[in-house]
Amino acid sequence: MKIGRATWAGKTRLALIDEQKQEVLFIEGGLASHLNPVLAVIEQGLTANDLKSAATDRAPLAEVKFLPPLSAFVRNVIAVGKNYHDHAMEFDKSGFNATSGASAIPAFPQIFTKATTTLAGPNDAIRFDSKHTSSVDYEGELGVVIGATCRNVSKADALSKVFGFVALNDVTARDLQKNHAQWFLGKSLDGFCPLGPWIATQDDAPIDSLRVQTWVNGELRQDAHISQLIFDVATLVETLSRAMTLQPGDIIATGTPVGVGIGFTPPKFLRHGDQVRVAVTGLGELINRVETL
Ligand code: MG
Repeated sequence: MKIGRATWAGKTRLALIDEQKQEVLFIEGGLASHLNPVLAVIEQGLTANDLKSAATDRAPLAEVKFLPPLSAFVRNVIAVGKNYHDHAMEFDKSGFNATSGASAIPAFPQIFTKATTTLAGPNDAIRFDSKHTSSVDYEGELGVVIGATCRNVSKADALSKVFGFVALNDVTARDLQKNHAQWFLGKSLDGFCPLGPWIATQDDAPIDSLRVQTWVNGELRQDAHISQLIFDVATLVETLSRAMTLQPGDIIATGTPVGVGIGFTPPKFLRHGDQVRVAVTGLGELINRVETL
């Protein structure tokens, strides 16, 4: 199942995406009027077949404007730093890591969060005041969507607690990330977590197939397979759930591959008018333009 939200014919809709047919089905009824309908689908354990019976309308995929698949983040996005070997090296060499330790490669997952107000969708602009930050960077990533309340999940059971996956951009103000030492502020500017266009369940986006790619203005900057993660998805769920109860709709941003702006000399920070495109296999393309004040 590929599920999201979209505007169509002047209304906000719950949408089922069929990439093979290049078609979107719109779901009506009680569920569609839920404040956070995709979260309701996750919490209620509904399947594509459950939803199709309430489909009233359809449209060609190319004509649909997608919104963030979740209407709101219930909790902060849980994010992982330095989770690809080559990115860990480029980050430590960049001079922007105020928390670098003895080794560039972490021995344990490095966890931080992004505020709920970072939520943005495909088609939304990445906006910031260039007097506030002059070093905004992209981080194309695989997002994991938790499907069930869980605690102390073993690695072997971890994927059974995962609803599906979503493409996301862990947009980061590098100067704030460095100056404030803790990463929270530089990671939490309003709208700095675009995600979408849809969430795909594991049967429609098998974990072994996932490849993350990021382009800026058409130039391929990042290209990695999810098998290159230092701490894989199951390990992340096990580690997090040992400390905290995970809840349906929680998002884990699994880390970004090598090729972010600070990896270049000189750095390639985002500028007004730039277009960032993140694509993950089966998860569509997340496209956002940069707008500075
Ligand atoms: Mg990141």
